[in-house]
Amino acid sequence: MKILDKIIKLEKCYTKLEENMKILKDKSKIILLKKMQKEYENVKKSNIEIGTEIQKIEKEYSEIEENVLKKKEEKKQQEELLYDGNVGCNIKFIDNVQSKIENLQNEIDKLEEEKSVLLDNEESLLNQKQKIEDDMKSVKTNFYEFKEEVLKEIQNAKIEIKSGNEQIQALRDSMSEEVLNKFDYIRRVRKPAVASVEDGVCQGCKIALPSMILDDIVSKRKKELICCDSCGRILYCKNTEKIVKKRKSRKKKSK
Ligand SMILES: [Zn+2]
Repeated sequence: MKILDKIIKLEKCYTKLEENMKILKDKSKIILLKKMQKEYENVKKSNIEIGTEIQKIEKEYSEIEENVLKKKEEKKQQEELLYDGNVGCNIKFIDNVQSKIENLQNEIDKLEEEKSVLLDNEESLLNQKQKIEDDMKSVKTNFYEFKEEVLKEIQNAKIEIKSGNEQIQALRDSMSEEVLNKFDYIRRVRKPAVASVEDGVCQGCKIALPSMILDDIVSKRKKELICCDSCGRILYCKNTEKIVKKRKSRKKKSK
């Protein structure tokens, strides 16, 4: 492999390595997972609270129901008194019993009304509970899917860091100290340390390169690395033919 190709590859390896390090350092997804977990706990808590509320309503309902039956029984007894042949014409007694029956009926009506309010409340709580349970299911599914994704990403990054470091080491072992020092120095100052040349322009700093440098790139005369005058990056050109063509057409125009 030519030295320039090695440099380009080394730069790619370092860029990839840095990307993977960033993934490991980035705690935002872990924080999001914890937030999702907390959200689930909160939803679960309110679901339990609603469950307790429903139980309370059901208890209250059955107490009222019991009371209604008791009142109905009392009313029945009073009515029996009224239709008992022994009552005769005791108007005062009849009035008294009738007013008792009336009162009992009023109480029963009131209790029935309370029962219906309780039933309405219970229904709305049951609906809420159902919605919360659906939410819990989807939060749980999302959590596990996201967790798997995050763990996979971290695992991948770790594997790639390991192989990246090995690749970097192998490349560095095959390069001279002089080239490595130059590359490391540029990389410390500017990342990436290499820049492609397109249409005679350094893609690192977007400044047009002087003809002399372009000549060197095309002819590959120079054995050492060619750097950009403006940003100092190591230059490479994938398609030197393009530079040649452009320069020829420029020469034609100037003639
Ligand atoms: Zn440049």
